Amino acid sequence: MAECKTGWCGKGDRPRTFPKRQPVICYDKPAAAGVDHTLYDTLRHEALLGEKIEELRVPKKSARTWTMQRGDLCRITVVEGSQVGDVNFWNLHNTKEKFYSGKTRQLHSAHLTVYDRLWSSLPYLRPMATVVGDSLKAYGIDEDGASVHDVIGTRCDNYTTKLITGKESEDSCHTYLTKAVEKLGLQEEDVHDVWNIFMCTGFSRDTHQYFTKASPARKGDYIEFIADMDLLVALSACPHGDVSIAVGQEIPDSICHPLQVEVFRATKPSLVLPPLERK
Ligand SMILES: [Zn+2]
Repeated sequence: MAECKTGWCGKGDRPRTFPKRQPVICYDKPAAAGVDHTLYDTLRHEALLGEKIEELRVPKKSARTWTMQRGDLCRITVVEGSQVGDVNFWNLHNTKEKFYSGKTRQLHSAHLTVYDRLWSSLPYLRPMATVVGDSLKAYGIDEDGASVHDVIGTRCDNYTTKLITGKESEDSCHTYLTKAVEKLGLQEEDVHDVWNIFMCTGFSRDTHQYFTKASPARKGDYIEFIADMDLLVALSACPHGDVSIAVGQEIPDSICHPLQVEVFRATKPSLVLPPLERK
């Protein structure tokens, strides 16, 4: 075999060192990602003191939809046992404009909490909703780098489960969300990456693989958001329950629970949201 003249013949790894660089927050929050805390605190307060215009329960291992007017507050509550929810959002008047979890992650964080916003898909890129209440806010970022209310993960789906197990399954958030929105004339392709409420996730330090932990949410825990535009919302009560068991393994029915949805509207609002950018 000819001798390698360059000292590099393409076989094996060439020893290499990399200079240390400082991390740069690449989407340092634009002004539109910030919210007026006084305004949103007041909107929250007045909505909760106003009228409850919707109350529904999402049974375990299923999905439901509801609508919201701009300025309405939605509270989603863990009503029985620990349970993760997968949420989709569409502009009520133009369902091409839907939640964009990836850009939301870049503009805010991998996990959302109070005063973070949920952004819509391109070319719209507008705030769809703003988080105003989170009973798990104190969880923060734990010793494994995990936190709650994730916008990293997608949604469990029957296609990936088949890749892992080789088995067909009808139990997935993707399937439930699809069935729920098909009743409204939407299609499977309209279901998109979700906001994983109450879900505790992170990346492993050594391999940067996505991991989940049993949700810390307990009966009575809630997340609240205010609609920044008229919305169609869909919520799936994930068939992985508290998501303490890896995808593809047997999930006992006993770890699956319902979620409760309430929508509140202020009856005498003293403040209003500034006009939404027209698109
Ligand atoms: Zn799921």
